[in-house]
Amino acid sequence: MADSLHIVCPHCHTTNRVRQDDLANAPDCGSCHKSLFTQNPVALGEESFDRHIARSQIPVLVDFWAPWCGPCKQMAPAYKQAAAELEPAFRLAKVDTEAVPALGARFNIRSIPTLALFVGGREVARQAGAMGAADIVKWARFHAL
Ligand code: ZN
Repeated sequence: MADSLHIVCPHCHTTNRVRQDDLANAPDCGSCHKSLFTQNPVALGEESFDRHIARSQIPVLVDFWAPWCGPCKQMAPAYKQAAAELEPAFRLAKVDTEAVPALGARFNIRSIPTLALFVGGREVARQAGAMGAADIVKWARFHAL
């Protein structure tokens, strides 16, 4: 494994190089100086999505959701809890498919919520339907290997 990893800032979306030893020590962004990990999923649009997926050297878990979807809203607290558990080994992101329909179309999202896991810029796993926090964590770790 490399000594350092590319981590994309959830605030300004700048790519940071972070030593693996420092990942767990709440690293800050070199550009905007905010925390690189906030224990919260980051909301992505088209441009920021592409940056995170292409440049992140940690797996990126994406929740495709919509504001009108009841199960999506129910899953939101579990997803946030999963972010607290999975960071900094993973980046957790959310895509509002109503606000950013192009991403839902590009990934052919048929039902929501859908979780998709990206490793090295490629989708490696996908799961439709709401899950609890423990199952999200287990699912992500299993498929990121
Ligand atoms: Zn930043």
